[in-house]
Amino acid sequence: MYQRILEICKRRGITYPSFEIYGGLSGFYDYGPVGSRIKQNIENLIRNSYVIDEGCMEVECPVLSPQDVWIASGHVENFTDKLTECVKCGEPYRADHLVEETVGEGCDHMSISELNENIKELDIKCPKCGGKLDRVYDYNLMFKTYVGPGKYKVSSYLRPETAQSTYISFKRLWDVGRKRLPLGAIQIGHSFRNEISPRKGMVRLREFNQAEVQFFVDPEVKETPRFGEVSSWEVELRDRVDREYKATLEDLLDDGVIKIQLIAYFLGKSLNLFRSMGIDPKLLRLRQHKDDERAFYSTDTWDIEYMSPSLGRIELVGVSDRTDYDLTQHMKLSGENMQVTRDGRKFTPHVIEVAYGIDRPFYCVIESCFREAEDRTFFSLPPDIAPYKVAVFPLVRKDNIPEKARDVYSLLGGERIMAFYDRSGSIGKRYARADEIGIPYCITVDYDTLEDDTVTIRYRDSKKQERILIGDIISHI
Ligand SMILES: [Zn+2]
Repeated sequence: MYQRILEICKRRGITYPSFEIYGGLSGFYDYGPVGSRIKQNIENLIRNSYVIDEGCMEVECPVLSPQDVWIASGHVENFTDKLTECVKCGEPYRADHLVEETVGEGCDHMSISELNENIKELDIKCPKCGGKLDRVYDYNLMFKTYVGPGKYKVSSYLRPETAQSTYISFKRLWDVGRKRLPLGAIQIGHSFRNEISPRKGMVRLREFNQAEVQFFVDPEVKETPRFGEVSSWEVELRDRVDREYKATLEDLLDDGVIKIQLIAYFLGKSLNLFRSMGIDPKLLRLRQHKDDERAFYSTDTWDIEYMSPSLGRIELVGVSDRTDYDLTQHMKLSGENMQVTRDGRKFTPHVIEVAYGIDRPFYCVIESCFREAEDRTFFSLPPDIAPYKVAVFPLVRKDNIPEKARDVYSLLGGERIMAFYDRSGSIGKRYARADEIGIPYCITVDYDTLEDDTVTIRYRDSKKQERILIGDIISHI
């Protein structure tokens, strides 16, 4: 299935590997004309769900930032993978992955010396050529560069996450947001990780898209009156001691498995969001980070994972209580005071972060909506996500029919409905093309249209067709 989806994505301008004519570069993907529309729709669903529904502010910060930012955040020291290279052929490997292949899961927190010991004792060799593996070392995943020339150059990094750039301007947001808590800020944009060996196509990229929401809260108020909107979501989960079961968010909170109500709320909200994108909710699962996996400052961290039939577990969003760690770190290094005063108390706000990937949900939407029938393949994308809402076809290219079809196309454009005009090939071929990019409605203009102003509307999922008046198209869709 994975290969068939990739083939359609390339052929129909959805996504394809970047720099193809130069042999490609692992970990980079283009969104084509169709894919970039779908991606924007996914981003807008997330954006609206926080900016409109939650009153968040939106910010956009540079992708390049000076070294101090990443010293404060801990990324210069800790944002590393344990790397080993083959002495003979030079192939790089994540050491924990190699050891895992021999001893099974649970090696991602081994120290360098533990990994070295294991590689030696288990006699692990280069899987590619059988050569000896070199000493394991810390490999920083950030792309480093310099801003400016000569002695004025500033060591800088491409950001590995958007979050830090949002935190840095907290005082500005605090003033603009009229000094209230909770205070939410969303940032949608590119981030970069120099992965050792990116695989799985769009699931592990070196340049990727994120939508990260930071909720600055009073440390004593990590609750929301809106929890009732999502509390009855029943979901499968794996908790921090690896128990797997099914429960509602309300029960998980009551039983103390989820420790913070705001985390439970954002998990429920995200489940709703993914469902509205067209991701099959039966394939979604919650996973709580284990004690040794969670960042030391976080009191609780959860992911929502999608169980992909072709690629296995895919993490779509992480919801985490980051406490006052980030603001405190930036206060220490910059000297800027980021404390606030409320009800006579002076404190540093805590942060509940909701960090969405965009490329991963994108792939999961495509996979979840992929349908294969005897005579066709199509993507059953929800209208909100579909790249175009309507396709317009003139039946033939003569007798004033293209002009009439153009009128219908303009009518849709006037209503700001994204339509797709297609006049080449048989009607059957045009249906196939529209199906393969997930267009929910096709409208055909024919000879009867010239007589009575009716068109044929055809529904993607059912293939059902009916005649309707041109004047009724807008209300119909
Ligand atoms: Zn080798």
